[in-house]
Amino acid sequence: MRPLIAGNWKMNNLRSEAATLVAGLMEQRAEQDPGCDMLVCPPFVSIRPVGDLIENSPIALGGQDCHSETAGAHTGDVSATMLADAGCEFVIVGHSERRANHHENDELIASKAKAAISNGLTVVVCVGETLEQRNAEKTLSIVENQVTNAVPDNATAKNTVVAYEPVWAIGTGLTPTIEQIAEVHDHICGLLTASFTDGEEFRLLYGGSMNPGNAREILAVENVNGGLVGGASLKVEDFWAICTSV
Ligand code: PEP
Repeated sequence: MRPLIAGNWKMNNLRSEAATLVAGLMEQRAEQDPGCDMLVCPPFVSIRPVGDLIENSPIALGGQDCHSETAGAHTGDVSATMLADAGCEFVIVGHSERRANHHENDELIASKAKAAISNGLTVVVCVGETLEQRNAEKTLSIVENQVTNAVPDNATAKNTVVAYEPVWAIGTGLTPTIEQIAEVHDHICGLLTASFTDGEEFRLLYGGSMNPGNAREILAVENVNGGLVGGASLKVEDFWAICTSV
C-alpha cells in the first residue's frame, strides 16, 4: 500500500507563504518520487491559489473541513460539493481542534464524511484520545467508539483514510511510544476489517508531532500507512524529509 503524507496547514500561510511552500515541495517532487502520495490541505481561501500552483503536479489538494449539506443558509461554512468544485480530492473531518473548538461529535463527523464521499472526495477521518483518557486507560475504547461512529457506512478503502491523532500529541512535541502507536493502529485495523469488506486496505495515518526526527521510526510501524502532519508541514525541508522517510 502506498503511504500518504498529508500536510494540515491549519490557519497558517498567507498566499505568498503558501506559494513559496508549494513551489519548494514541487521542486523536490519533480526531482524525486518520495515513495508516498503527498497531500496539502490549505485554509479555504488558499485552496484555489494553491490548486492553481500544483495543478499539474502529483501533489494532491484537500480541505480541512466541510459541511454535511450541499448548499444553504450556513454562514461561514463550505460544502464538500464546493471543495470538489474547487479541485480538492481530499478533505479532513473530525480533527480534534474542530471537535474541541466547534463542539463536533461523531454523528456530525460521520455526516460530513458521508457528504465528502458522495461528492467524490477521499475523506480523512480523525480520531484520538485526550491525555486524561489515556491516563485512565480508555484509549482503545475511546478510539473504538470514534471509529465505529464517525466512519460512515459508505466508507471504502478507496474513499476513506483514518488518522489516529492522540489529542495530547498534537502540537506539543510529545508522541506516544512506538508500542502505543502500534497497539492503536492494530486495533483500528481490526475494527475496520470487522466492519468493511476491504477494511484491511484502509490507509491508517498517524498524526501528532511527527517531524523529520521521528518520522522514520513511526512510519515503519505495522499498520501505519502514512502521516497527518501539522507544524512540520509548514516548512519545505521538514515536510519533504517526512515524505522521504516512508
Ligand atoms: C495535526 O494537527 O493534525 C497535527 C498532527 O499537528 P502537529 O503535527 O503539529 O502535531
